[in-house]
Amino acid sequence: MNSASREPHGRWNTFNRQGSRVTGNSVKLSLLLPAGIIGTNCSEKLEMSDLSALTAALLEFRDARDWRQFHTLRNLITSLNLEAAELLELTQWKNDVEIEALASDPQGAEALRDECADILLYLLLIADTAGIDLVEAARAKLEKNAVKYPVEKAYGSRAKYTELA
Ligand SMILES: [Mg+2]
Repeated sequence: MNSASREPHGRWNTFNRQGSRVTGNSVKLSLLLPAGIIGTNCSEKLEMSDLSALTAALLEFRDARDWRQFHTLRNLITSLNLEAAELLELTQWKNDVEIEALASDPQGAEALRDECADILLYLLLIADTAGIDLVEAARAKLEKNAVKYPVEKAYGSRAKYTELA
């Protein structure tokens, strides 16, 4: 069984079936899908090792339902934002302490997981439709952000890059 845990500062660690930490340069998502959900006869759970495999499973799920016809880029972008609103809804009328407690409450944690997953799934569909390599795009954007927010100027500051001294 794979598992993931969260370190302080929001970094995810993923562990393989032997309990070893998954390392490497590429983004690794170890996700389990129930057998049969993507049309496999395999009796074991399927292990998704990267975004490509997850996208393939998602496209198979979509195409088995003939939903491609609804997945225009505009509809997918709208849907991602609706899912982001569902994530935001989990914070409605709560104070900061109550929001922080969501992650340690079983029901709250499940709701957080579900909405984050919905957002990721739509993001994968957008990337597939628009021909975006998400890992490469994220790396490139991180590099742009590093230029916009040099450590010596941005350290400990919440100022926007246009306002950094
Ligand atoms: Mg949702």
